[in-house]
Amino acid sequence: MNSPLAATTPLSCFELDDRVPSVDEARQALLTLIEAPLGHERVALQDAHGRRLAETLSAPINVPQNTNAAMDGIALAWLAEQTRWPLAGQALAGEPFTSTLATGQCVSITTGAPLPDGADTVIMNEQLEIHADHVRVHSPERVIRGQNVRQAGEDIARGNVALAAGEQLDAARLGLAASLGIAYVAVYRRPRVAVFSTGSEVTAPGAALPAAGIYDANRFTLSGLLREHGAEVVDLGILPDCPDTLRHALEGAAASADLVLTSGGVSAGQADYTREALTALGQLAFWRVAMRPGRPLAAGALGELRTPFVGLPGNPVAAMVAFLQFVTPLLARLEGQSSGAPRRLCAIVDETLASRAGRRDFIRGVYTSDARGQLRVRSTGAQGSGILTSMVNANCLVELPDACTAVHPGETVIIQPLRREA
Ligand code: AMP
Ligand code: MG
Repeated sequence: MNSPLAATTPLSCFELDDRVPSVDEARQALLTLIEAPLGHERVALQDAHGRRLAETLSAPINVPQNTNAAMDGIALAWLAEQTRWPLAGQALAGEPFTSTLATGQCVSITTGAPLPDGADTVIMNEQLEIHADHVRVHSPERVIRGQNVRQAGEDIARGNVALAAGEQLDAARLGLAASLGIAYVAVYRRPRVAVFSTGSEVTAPGAALPAAGIYDANRFTLSGLLREHGAEVVDLGILPDCPDTLRHALEGAAASADLVLTSGGVSAGQADYTREALTALGQLAFWRVAMRPGRPLAAGALGELRTPFVGLPGNPVAAMVAFLQFVTPLLARLEGQSSGAPRRLCAIVDETLASRAGRRDFIRGVYTSDARGQLRVRSTGAQGSGILTSMVNANCLVELPDACTAVHPGETVIIQPLRREA
């Protein structure tokens, strides 16, 4: 039976025996294929968008550096119940007032200008009547001591952690790093991912379509997903269903990539050589997962380097869904993250969706927010694993749990938002 250890330590990829793992088991097991995160490199902040920090950034300065005015107006050294304030000078952003303000005095000030020593309160222009040597304040009873002042370090104080290792540098984080004066950051190297399509019928766009051909969609969906997730794509084209060609190609890719992805050729069909090549070159972990779409899915390690390998299903929707469940977490692990499981939200379902016990179903869905802000979801319609328009029309995957046989209108379901907005 399960020991407490077994409950917390995921099985390695190679300990699943001949069982068909659940999505959760397969996702956990796959992570064990990655022994160590990738190395780091230093890049200019301008080039760091989307990269993952490999260092923790502490603030070398207070942000803001000085206590300053949040409004254009006057800065004053508080004196209760005074309405006529003598003007001692001015403080501009970049041109501070350098003397100390005596109690009861004020200076005119612009937004962002450092508050002079002695000043503690700012009143905005709209509340002032400004004369040559003094200022009169309207409705002085509305002035609160300390108002309209931004304190030095109120955004982030010197020495505090500004951004933690592992955070992905999005627009706001880039801005924060820049506001600290940081010009270079250590980030994880981008994962280099080799991608092949397989199948003698699979034809590159631009070539004439043979009578029994099908255009190669997967290299484009997978390359796009890889780029969306910050990986560097090594596009190795289309491989025919030929065991030797496949073996050589996988061997070459394993020597230079951090991860090798193929699509097609992993089911139990006659021409499905991917599993065979994987067994010959390395170690096959499992080749099916209890899910739909995406049941045929091979995973293992290639060659002496034990390069992680995922053989995605050939059907275009299945390849994308399996990528989002299994490859995304691997990319996150390569960049030092402990978990990269898909983001989940709850939504109320507006129609009956059928499922089958013993596997996880991923229905392509469209979620919207109703007048009360409640998320609601419906399916995109036909759900065949080759119907790529269902992915085009979807903005989420509805995830129906392993034991579920159906959900009905009004029930709550889990959705995985797709990155693209509807
Ligand atoms: P397979 O797993 O190789 O049996 O492929 C399953 C289905 O997906 C078949 O109908 C293939 O023709 C189709 N397929 C395989 N690879 C691709 C691809 N790269 N682009 C579009 N369809 C594909
Ligand atoms: Mg095939």
